[in-house]
Amino acid sequence: RPAGRYVGRFAPSPTGPLHEGSLVAALASWLDARAHGGRWLVRIEDVDGPRCPPGADATILSQLAQARLLPDEPPVWQSRRGAAYGQALERLRAAGWAYPCGCSRKDILEAVAARGDQRERHGELVYPGTCRHGLRGKPARAWRLRSTAGRGAVDGIDGDVAVDAGVDIDPGPGRRAEIDADADFRIDWHDRRLGAQSQDLTAEVGDFVLKRADGLWAYQLAVVVDDGLQQVTDIVRGEDLADNTPRQIRLQQLLGLPRPRYLHTPLVLGENGEKLSKQNGARALDLRDPLAALRRAGTALGLPAFAAREASSTADWLAQATALWRAREVDRGSHDRR
Ligand code: GLU
Repeated sequence: RPAGRYVGRFAPSPTGPLHEGSLVAALASWLDARAHGGRWLVRIEDVDGPRCPPGADATILSQLAQARLLPDEPPVWQSRRGAAYGQALERLRAAGWAYPCGCSRKDILEAVAARGDQRERHGELVYPGTCRHGLRGKPARAWRLRSTAGRGAVDGIDGDVAVDAGVDIDPGPGRRAEIDADADFRIDWHDRRLGAQSQDLTAEVGDFVLKRADGLWAYQLAVVVDDGLQQVTDIVRGEDLADNTPRQIRLQQLLGLPRPRYLHTPLVLGENGEKLSKQNGARALDLRDPLAALRRAGTALGLPAFAAREASSTADWLAQATALWRAREVDRGSHDRR
């Protein structure tokens, strides 16, 4: 693809059909791509197979088609892309950034209790780093990424190398690397709507999982590899995912991938004020009248209510909504930078 061209994507996890909130995310990424004269891709993020009922992917694709949100290339399925994720993990491992972890949930709870320093994020414990410098005889279960500033080289595979931070080790024939102090590591990034963002990856997230103990690829790794290979330049998605962005930026840095621009759109809240999701009974998407569904999604995105009230068809509405979206971008003007 020519350099500088806009490539956007919608990346649903097919855990069920699209609901009203996910149509909003699809529409936002579609409008932003069209407003920039770019291409729009659809990627089915079915890495977590057990959570994806058969047929949900086909349902999503047909819902998008009913709303006339048509991808410019055939969709890709993450469940078929394990080889690419495996290569990325291998690169991270060889460079000393990814390491195997032998901890069970119970091990993590015990280590955190022993340390007396309990850090949590969304109710999840920040991994205490137990296996960062070696498995100490435990079998490998998951793979994690070191989320510290220091460059790492660890040998955890044999489980017989236990090194402390700050020392030189010889990680094996022909390879020598240094383990720096496990200094905290902060990621600064820009969101087109939210502005300047920052997260201390070490303190707030910790060494996160790349491949799970059950053998499934983690969302963070899969999404970064695919956005990179598909040369996605612009990520437009719901604000609930903003918190994942620093982890994804870190993986881009380590894999030598360019950083896309980010736009996190406001969440659509249900009548109870909570995020719309299947769990809290988000209204099923009614596409018998696609134009009405698009209008509701457009309103959720803050498009003026008059938006295409006179539209005669979904195609007509989408064209008018694209023009409105583009006008808003022009208003935003110089704020729209990386
Ligand atoms: N598959 C993710 C989800 O449906 C979204 C991934 C993304 O847009 O980065 O929540």
